[in-house]
Amino acid sequence: MVKPPVLEIAGLEKRFGDTVVLKNINLKVREGELVFVIGPSGSGKSTMLRCCNRLEEPTSGAILVEDAKITDIARRDLDKMRMKVGMVFQGFHLYPHMSVLRNVMLAQIKALKRPKDEAETRARDMLERVGLSEKADAMPSDLSGGQQQRVAIARALALDPKVMLFDEPTSALDPELVGSVLKVMKDLRREGMTMLVVSHEMAFAREAADRVIFMDGGLVVEHGSPEQIFGDPQTDRLKAFLSRVS
Ligand code: ADP
Ligand code: MG
Repeated sequence: MVKPPVLEIAGLEKRFGDTVVLKNINLKVREGELVFVIGPSGSGKSTMLRCCNRLEEPTSGAILVEDAKITDIARRDLDKMRMKVGMVFQGFHLYPHMSVLRNVMLAQIKALKRPKDEAETRARDMLERVGLSEKADAMPSDLSGGQQQRVAIARALALDPKVMLFDEPTSALDPELVGSVLKVMKDLRREGMTMLVVSHEMAFAREAADRVIFMDGGLVVEHGSPEQIFGDPQTDRLKAFLSRVS
């Protein structure tokens, strides 16, 4: 049976002034799927992700999360909706003056209005999930980049998202720290989390992605299984891209 889409991008277009950055993007991410996005710098990958929780306003088209039309929600109601779409960026954006535990609790209390003790229990559970229970009382600056990124993942997970979006989550990390973050993402996939991942980690894509989309110039140029995309690219653009990155 085909699972229903958790995230649907329909006819998405984005312009900045006269510059068309996304052209008619259509994509469904189904329950439990990991969809991988590759493409050269400037192809619109980050803008597409940012449109999914309206960090950028789409020029036209629709974004749906479990049938709720994100693109129709009034600005004042956006915060609640944003919880459903967890986002992890290249930079970790932790609050430097707060402990790891407080970082994971804060949005639960402020945005979800969770009682403090409930938020703390949830935060500790999520830190355990990313392998950092023993760092709850540490400050972000005491952690490696890989550990900080796992805290950022725990913080997003604590808000009970329906889908997790990752924008180059390992690009800022020293090579030896990349593996710990990818492992957390693999664990999440195994546990059934729905994920849309922009990354240059091609080996990870081959291993963990259900589908891969290749973007170039604001368009989805190719779309297929990892075997198809990496093993049998159809367009010159994808062939050129793959020869540059691998
Ligand atoms: P990618 O993540 O694939 O590198 P981006 O989505 O960041 O691509 O950018 C796609 C294009 O949109 C680029 O040409 C970029 O310069 C342009 N762009 C992104 N954000 C803005 C903005 N706020 N204003 C104007 N142009 C932007
Ligand atoms: Mg980007």
